[in-house]
Amino acid sequence: MTTEETKQQPEQPQEPAPQAAPATTEAPARPERRPRGRFGGRRKVCAFCVEKVDIIDYKDPLKLRRYLSDRGKIEPRRKTGTCAKHQRRLTVALKRARHLALLPYTAEHIRLTGVFIPRS
Ligand SMILES: [Zn+2]
Repeated sequence: MTTEETKQQPEQPQEPAPQAAPATTEAPARPERRPRGRFGGRRKVCAFCVEKVDIIDYKDPLKLRRYLSDRGKIEPRRKTGTCAKHQRRLTVALKRARHLALLPYTAEHIRLTGVFIPRS
């Protein structure tokens, strides 16, 4: 038996490696990684606090419209980011505006009157 050389091959990585892109788990380095909720995103701030509004004008449907859903319902705080103080005042303002027919009560009203102020 003189076939010794056929078995003594050192392991040589002779794979052609067909340009397999390495899984880049390299994310842009961030100074701090904060856990984001299901919806991801940053903390909303109360728009009224930012503008230092004390009394919310119920006669301004264009502004108040943002706090109604497309079905005419008042948006919850968690969606709009309004603080508790302003949310309380906002609901009063919204209800007043509804009473004056500046804003819809229901989706039906939107359909009938066609008063739909798109939210920007
Ligand atoms: Zn506020």
